[in-house]
Amino acid sequence: MFTSEIKSKRGEDICLLIKPDNYSYNFICECGDASELTVKECQNTEAVFISHTHIDHFANFDTILRHQIGIQRRVIICGPAGITKQVQSKIQAYQWNLISDDAILYEVREIKEDNSIVCSEIKPASWEITPLTKELDCLYSNDKFTVEFVQLDHKTSSVAYLFKERDTVKIDLNKSDFKGGAWVNELKNAFMAKQDDTVIKIDANEFKAKDLYHLLEIKKGDSLGVIMDHAAHQDNHAAITKVFENCNTVYIESFYKAEDKEQAQQNFHSYSLESARVMKKCNVQNAIPVHFSRKYNEDDVEMILEEFTNEFSN
Ligand SMILES: [Zn+2]
Ligand SMILES: [Zn+2]
Repeated sequence: MFTSEIKSKRGEDICLLIKPDNYSYNFICECGDASELTVKECQNTEAVFISHTHIDHFANFDTILRHQIGIQRRVIICGPAGITKQVQSKIQAYQWNLISDDAILYEVREIKEDNSIVCSEIKPASWEITPLTKELDCLYSNDKFTVEFVQLDHKTSSVAYLFKERDTVKIDLNKSDFKGGAWVNELKNAFMAKQDDTVIKIDANEFKAKDLYHLLEIKKGDSLGVIMDHAAHQDNHAAITKVFENCNTVYIESFYKAEDKEQAQQNFHSYSLESARVMKKCNVQNAIPVHFSRKYNEDDVEMILEEFTNEFSN
């Protein structure tokens, strides 16, 4: 399960915190108004995901940096083309003569236009960009979950992220007369690796893994999406539908009210009704509209939420 929380004030620039169950670290998406992020939450963050570097999504990277200096750990930053230089530029805006060389290490994973990922390290004292040779199969992964991405059009690339928890497998020994033992893990591993003919020994008997699969129960992993600024057009909606179909929870940009849809089109943004429609098309269980224009007052924001909810649940 992913627990997620909006860490920005309503009507302010967006920032989300994601806490996976049974995992020691947090994940931050977007560095807008980070006023509700605690020092501890920043320090305990393993990776930061940024959709694009318009100022409302990147301004408070500095707050996170401020709290992370001294944690003596690697922190991953993922973002669109240009992010590596932009992270470096932000850091180099300050004087750093009093910190140790191991105060922090940023690993930046830059998503190029062709979807390739270029990794670099940035660390004290020089904060130079050092290219890494590693090749990633996936933008981010650990033993609990992976993070996939899709680039959307916002007159610049806006990266949408999908956090996907791995499915877990349990055994139901009541369905057989066997006792537990080392074979249980061997069977689970064979199932996960799709090695159906693996020989599983239970006491003196040998079985093919696939003949024991009926003892397994698969628990589907949780899924959480973060879709930020994007034009509400066909290409973006097709890309969103492909990646976020049947997702459990999705945060989606709904920058404008329906009556301001011309402005949304001009600025390559989405608006209440279109964000709701694409979420409905994706069959998302829990769709949460976020990131509203700062020109709106409390009542306008209420109207966006109402328009979104009515369209989504209709
Ligand atoms: Zn933007
Ligand atoms: Zn924005």
